[in-house]
Amino acid sequence: MTPDQTPATPERKFERSLVEEILEASPDGILVVDDQGMITCHNQRLFEVLGIPPGSISGGEDGDLAGLDDQHLLAQALWRFREPEAFLERVESLYADPDLEDHSELAYRDGRTLERHSKALWGEGRRYVGRVWFFRDITARKRAEHALEQLARHDPLTGAANRRHFFERAAEELARARRHGVALSLVMLDLDHFKRINDHWGHAAGDRVLQAFAAGVRSLLRREDLFGRIGGEEFVVLLPATDPEGALQLAERLRQHTEGLEFAEDGERVSVTTSAGVATLEAGDASLDALLQRADEALYAAKRAGRNRSFCQA
Ligand code: GH3
Ligand code: MG
Ligand code: MG
Repeated sequence: MTPDQTPATPERKFERSLVEEILEASPDGILVVDDQGMITCHNQRLFEVLGIPPGSISGGEDGDLAGLDDQHLLAQALWRFREPEAFLERVESLYADPDLEDHSELAYRDGRTLERHSKALWGEGRRYVGRVWFFRDITARKRAEHALEQLARHDPLTGAANRRHFFERAAEELARARRHGVALSLVMLDLDHFKRINDHWGHAAGDRVLQAFAAGVRSLLRREDLFGRIGGEEFVVLLPATDPEGALQLAERLRQHTEGLEFAEDGERVSVTTSAGVATLEAGDASLDALLQRADEALYAAKRAGRNRSFCQA
């Protein structure tokens, strides 16, 4: 029985106004649909959360949808989701099986993330009488989670991936390179005589040099390259689909760019150089360690040869 067919006893009136109060006080968009797919009730927040102008479906100013087929609402909401087919498929399977509950996150085209909860409503004798849907805007939470994730994965000074994140991502890249039979190269970078910069101009100046160095490296990388800080002044760049020649060219560009950086500290000119070691994945490499080790050996050969140069694995 819908609320309108119920005799309006004082208790019933109170119940109805209580339900209305609860609906309107809810931070979620709420929609109740009966067993025929007709909208029983909803709150105003539903329009806000779904981003649908209230009058656009019913024509009325407050946009009351009670009594309308919920297909009208679905048609308005559907195209606003990033994956409308998946959304529709799930809605249809939920309507087809009252026992199903739903708790899902949905990406909205306007950049927001919505959370959808849905469960069946049961009348006397466990008779299916409809379904209630809750839509919650969780964009702020998702953004905060994303920001925290970024913080946990990146070095705060330089923005480069931290060791843990670098090695996690590198393992994925290694597996991908093997699966697709494509090259994978690595450039290891270590700033030259960095201790002298700290000793002469102080640790804060050293930090600024590290930041400028990292910004310079990043400006020369592709989107798919992975830049990590694996030690104090030791960095790595993992280069998917890059052969030894390409990797050595990049290492040289990074070296030259670093050499060209200029800093002023206490009226003095400060400069920095980097040495680079380059290695490429080989069929016999058991793990990333083998690749890192060869890049490290090349780096130290570059250091021994006088620094500020890029060497490739022997
Ligand atoms: P080499 O050319 O052989 O690499 O010489 P180096 O002086 O760069 O090497 P060494 O390993 O002796 O010194 C590295 C220095 O980097 C020592 C350390 O204090 C400094 N360092 C490490 N992390 C940071 C940091 O986060 N900020 C600053 N300012 N300095 C750091
Ligand atoms: Mg070092
Ligand atoms: Mg160094």
